[in-house]
Amino acid sequence: MDIIILDFIVIYFLREVNMDKKKGFIAEFKEFILRGNVMDMAVGVIVGGAFTAIVTSLNADILTPLLGIFGGTDFSELKVTLGSGELAPTLTYGNFITAVINFLITALVIFVIIKAINRLSERAAALVKKNAEEAEAAEPTEKECPYCYSKINIKATRCPHCTSQL
Ligand SMILES: [Zn+2]
Repeated sequence: MDIIILDFIVIYFLREVNMDKKKGFIAEFKEFILRGNVMDMAVGVIVGGAFTAIVTSLNADILTPLLGIFGGTDFSELKVTLGSGELAPTLTYGNFITAVINFLITALVIFVIIKAINRLSERAAALVKKNAEEAEAAEPTEKECPYCYSKINIKATRCPHCTSQL
């Protein structure tokens, strides 16, 4: 969280620094950093960082305790020591299992969020399409010939059925 606040301060500072008339090193650096895509990337990193905090909290504070109801999720005690003696390597495979479970939970959460976003954007696209179709339908494209009463194009100046001048 401190890093996010620091990011904001750095961006604010870079925006507020007065641009030097002659292109000094600082001015050039400022120009580089304030280019649209660099700023967008900074915003993305900050939002991503905040989002990571939410996902981590959801894992650690909500989902892990809930999963704990169905037979514990604390695998940190699981380990295997290869051989004997003080220098024998220890495989703490319980930590690895926890990491895999955290990854699966994170992937599931992101999948659900992306699915929801996709459904929303699909609905929005369908609405836009429907509105366009309705606008098109509301505009008349045909008229009736006053002589033969055939349906003809609204822009026609001569009837294609009875050849009358309109
Ligand atoms: Zn006609």
